[in-house]
Amino acid sequence: MGGGYDLELFTKTPDYDLLCSICHGVMRCPVMISCGHIFCRNCIMQWLKRRCTCPCCRTKVRGKPYVLMHKLKRKINRLDVKCPNEQHGCPVHFALVHCQEHAEYCAFGAVPCSNEGCPAEVLRKDMYDHSHNCRYWRQNCHMGCETLLDSETRQTHNCYQELKEDYARQLHKLQQKAQRMETICSQISRQLQMMNEPAQPAADTGETI
Ligand SMILES: [Zn+2]
Ligand SMILES: [Zn+2]
Ligand SMILES: [Zn+2]
Ligand SMILES: [Zn+2]
Ligand SMILES: [Zn+2]
Repeated sequence: MGGGYDLELFTKTPDYDLLCSICHGVMRCPVMISCGHIFCRNCIMQWLKRRCTCPCCRTKVRGKPYVLMHKLKRKINRLDVKCPNEQHGCPVHFALVHCQEHAEYCAFGAVPCSNEGCPAEVLRKDMYDHSHNCRYWRQNCHMGCETLLDSETRQTHNCYQELKEDYARQLHKLQQKAQRMETICSQISRQLQMMNEPAQPAADTGETI
């Protein structure tokens, strides 16, 4: 986590004494050092890694590096802020402390498409449309035919039509089979008939089997 909160985030210009003199933002997790000056915790920690004096008054920093300013932190947490997705159209305002919580379901937040392989980031509110038109969309037909559909075939896929065609093919095969059986049966019965019948004059038995 970086320095303070961007001033742009706040609906009203924050008081000057809430600003960190290192990052010039509103103090995030404010801490006081031995001289009494207050900064964002991260900002002063980074500063003290390289120097051992206060960036405001140049006094040498002594003892415990800092004291957490709980009351000030609560005051800052209550400040009214705009949604960070305001530029995408989110009109909502809330206390700073609710920023994280809002970001998790903000309809104007950008989230990655859940279709495997798709590199797109889409606003939450547009995700439904996107994922249904996304060219990475793939799903088994949920009507029960189990065909694996993609963004192109799902437009033209017609379960009923496909089942009908499938049945028609099967029916055709069965009909062919039945016809063959019928031919064989009639051949056999003719043979049987000929075996039982007394011999006919040669002229009547011209056909061969
Ligand atoms: Zn700061
Ligand atoms: Zn100081
Ligand atoms: Zn929002
Ligand atoms: Zn996608
Ligand atoms: Zn189907």
